[in-house]
Amino acid sequence: MFLIRNLTRVSPTTSSIVTRFRNSGSSSSPYTLASRFCTAQETQIQSPASSNGVDRSQYEGLRPTREGEKPRVVVLGSGWAGCRLMKGIDTSLYDVVCVSPRNHMVFTPLLASTCVGTLEFRSVAEPITSIQPAISREPGSYFFLANCSRLDADAHEVHCETLPDGLDTLKPRKFKIAYDKLVVASGAEASTFGIHGVMENAIFLREVHHAQEIRRKLLLNLMLSDTPCLPKEEKQRLLHCVVVGGGPTGVEFSGELSDFIKKDVRQRYSHVKDDIHVTLIEARDILSSFDDRLRRYAIKQLNKSGVRFVRGIVKDVMPQKLILDDGTEVPYGLLVWSTGVGPSPFVRSLGLPKDPGGRLVHQDHSIRPFFAIFFCISSLIPFVLCYWPIKVAEREGKYLANLLNEIAKANGGRANSAKEIELGVPFVYKHLGSMATIGRYKALVDLRESKDAKGISMTGFVSWFIWRSAYLTRVISWRNRFYVAINWFTTFVFGRDISRI
Ligand SMILES: Cc1cc2nc3c(=O)[nH]c(=O)nc-3n(C[C@H](O)[C@H](O)[C@H](O)COP(=O)(O)OP(=O)(O)OC[C@H]3O[C@@H](n4cnc5c(N)ncnc54)[C@H](O)[C@@H]3O)c2cc1C
Repeated sequence: MFLIRNLTRVSPTTSSIVTRFRNSGSSSSPYTLASRFCTAQETQIQSPASSNGVDRSQYEGLRPTREGEKPRVVVLGSGWAGCRLMKGIDTSLYDVVCVSPRNHMVFTPLLASTCVGTLEFRSVAEPITSIQPAISREPGSYFFLANCSRLDADAHEVHCETLPDGLDTLKPRKFKIAYDKLVVASGAEASTFGIHGVMENAIFLREVHHAQEIRRKLLLNLMLSDTPCLPKEEKQRLLHCVVVGGGPTGVEFSGELSDFIKKDVRQRYSHVKDDIHVTLIEARDILSSFDDRLRRYAIKQLNKSGVRFVRGIVKDVMPQKLILDDGTEVPYGLLVWSTGVGPSPFVRSLGLPKDPGGRLVHQDHSIRPFFAIFFCISSLIPFVLCYWPIKVAEREGKYLANLLNEIAKANGGRANSAKEIELGVPFVYKHLGSMATIGRYKALVDLRESKDAKGISMTGFVSWFIWRSAYLTRVISWRNRFYVAINWFTTFVFGRDISRI
């Protein structure tokens, strides 16, 4: 049975690869008959220069779809919105092509836990092909490890660049992809507010490789701080962990870090236990999206865990210290920057209407003006932009998947064919609440529509239990759910893994 299933799965892909190779030598027509790819020469024959003056001859890529082929949805980004959308797309109606600099989705709410070893990195990374298996099975569906650098909405093409990731395995290559429907779900970028030295000296917390860098540096500093004859000041600097930004990410990370210090460092690095500290720097109020009662509780608990709060604005960041606006110098060994997000250069480069914050704003089809998911149906360009939180991104992804499926069923899947189709009820986002963990088996749960509305809000161990249960059930695959549960169990019983690998 297994063999039969695999044979049937493999055959269309294999035949398509065979045809691609067979056709690759005979390029007299702009696009070879069966291959979905076109070469640079073929592109040149078809169109020597793009409408925007960019020489297209350097681009190879995926040609436009033809009659008899499924229309193509191109998804830029493999975050919450993009992945939820890909999961919901009916692959009997569309081919799905995803372009992203990472081949997995990051389960961001649990990312802070990986920095200190509560969870392993694999537990929070979900491969795209397990979210949408058609990407690895269907002959017309692909994942490309690349960044999208340009959108040519007139030509229905996106221009991309491969991501060699610092290794010289392949010279950077440019290619283009023709789309029938485009979803821009490329998220946001960490904000530095142009502060000097942030990029060079601080570590962000947005991707798995950031968490790996934080963990490596934290453990390195712990080990180096035990070096014989190290001046006291230098030891304290190495062991000073500074977090800039008192939003949910900064607070959750500070909570994880203080848990690690209280439990694991005190037991296993007892020589340094009195020198290691966490400082959280925030310009305004921490956790400003929560009400006063919850915020006060969080501050009290974090204080009890040894987290120091400093109110101030960072003016300059140097390799071993940062300077605040009042001139205070704060030496650090580890600096984590979490001051929110802003539009990425790609979103900035899109010639589409934006709000003063640089977020794309909705035009024709009423979907909340958040940023990052942008949906383009031929000449009609409704777009949704999502920002924070996950619930917005996910629901927009689900909504768009359903909408695209309906459009394809009404024969509007192909480019320029959906103009007359009724797009149905616009997306409306309803806020269902927020949660944040603060360490020491404590969390905040606020199930109200806004912080002034009536409803349930709670703190403490029960909230922490709700937080953990909620996120465990929302981990995408059973494999990762299992990993997360096992990691939590082993951390509880044996403590965190402190080996610096
Ligand atoms: C540590 C952390 C904890 C968080 N915790 C919570 C929480 O508890 N609750 C909550 O609601 N929210 C939380 N968030 C916020 C939440 O993760 C975001 O709201 C959500 O990820 C937004 O989804 P998105 O799909 O718009 O963007 P993202 O998830 O950021 O995905 C963007 C994708 O686009 C890709 N990309 C970027 N540029 C390009 C390009 N040029 N071409 C192609 N692809 C590109 C990226 O690699 C990525 O795959 C947290 C965020 C972080 C970092």
